[in-house]
Amino acid sequence: MEIKNHERLHADDRNLCRLAMSELGDVYSDLGLSTEEFDLLDTPKRSFTVHFPVRMDSGKVKMYVGYRVQYNDARGPAKGGIRFHPELTLDDVRDLSFLMTLKCAVVNIPFGGSKGGVVVNPKELSRNELEKITRGYIRAIEEYIGPFKDIPAPDVYTDEKIMVWILDEFERLKGEHVPAVVTGKPIELGGSRARSYSTSLGGIYVLEEAMKKMGMEKSKVKIAVQGFGNVGENAARILHEKEYNVIAVSDSKGGIIKDDGLYIPAVIKHKDETGSVVDFPGSRNITNKELLTCECDILIPAALSDQLNRDNAKDVKAKLVLELANAPTTREADDIFFDKNIMLIPDILANAGGVVVSYFEWSQNLNNDYWEEEKVLEKLKRIMITAFNDVHLLCEDQKCRLRRSAYSLALKRILHAEKLRGNL
Ligand code: GLU
Repeated sequence: MEIKNHERLHADDRNLCRLAMSELGDVYSDLGLSTEEFDLLDTPKRSFTVHFPVRMDSGKVKMYVGYRVQYNDARGPAKGGIRFHPELTLDDVRDLSFLMTLKCAVVNIPFGGSKGGVVVNPKELSRNELEKITRGYIRAIEEYIGPFKDIPAPDVYTDEKIMVWILDEFERLKGEHVPAVVTGKPIELGGSRARSYSTSLGGIYVLEEAMKKMGMEKSKVKIAVQGFGNVGENAARILHEKEYNVIAVSDSKGGIIKDDGLYIPAVIKHKDETGSVVDFPGSRNITNKELLTCECDILIPAALSDQLNRDNAKDVKAKLVLELANAPTTREADDIFFDKNIMLIPDILANAGGVVVSYFEWSQNLNNDYWEEEKVLEKLKRIMITAFNDVHLLCEDQKCRLRRSAYSLALKRILHAEKLRGNL
């Protein structure tokens, strides 16, 4: 299994949780929650640890530990990915499942939030062992997942192939086809069109809406994208196809800049051939740090967490920041941006396009009715734009930052569903 940036990815999400939890303290006090409301939000609905045996290639049997937390399902079945990571803890899974609950609520899709995983280092496993672990984990949580209970998806170090094993194991246990039990499947087994680039495109729909609010004109803006993994590369490619001027991009080896715009298809080819965007002919090499403070109008951090921090936030020239990465902005930088009138579109809204298309996949599976790419895109656009406008309206009303209004909107929706059910 090919694994990139192993330790970093997980550490990033830990940071996301830390930031989210610190933001929450303030949102809770803004919302003036009652003790009952606070208590309900403070604890996951279901949380379990499973232990299961796996016969390794050596012939020896090893015990593995898996977790699944269904944080809240007042708005619909729980939804969230499964990660395989050697340092995974139940606390991580719990915090991440809460963030999934907020993410689904902010874009108003009919899901609650969950997360799960197995404590394992997939780098050390053969394909056969990886498959046995996946199947063993699914047998252990089988009773608790299902299209109307909890629907897993890919997350850190789990991919399409693993989703197929999940599907197959679950269907064997049930003795029938149940494609809606998991999302992120290949198209041939019920996956949705456009899912592979839905996070980037969802973010761009939101960005275009934000540009309208800021009175920014497409032909006049310069865009810098940090990160050239799946999300960053797709964002740069889509922006280029939409005739935006992408002037700077970067990957873990460094960045490039060209003031009159980069020809992104050629940059992608260069990266495929050389392993990096660096040294792209006709551009100037810059560092990742320099990219963040370059002369641009829109900045899209799509790589690591903590990139925009107290040291560089005051030097950022962009007027609009789209957080396609998880937690790229620290709390201090957030304050600086607010003071400088820089609009920041927060991660739980900006990168929700992935789970939105997961929702479409689930819906197509349940109806056995598969959509053309055009239909997926049109519906994704509508959901993302509505979510942005909902968050923006609240933000204008409360004179706060978008991050704060995104969190409060999500929490209000969750609490409303709990009240309607009579739980509050
Ligand atoms: N793991 C992804 C996320 O955290 C996708 C979840 C899903 O599609 O259910 O957003």
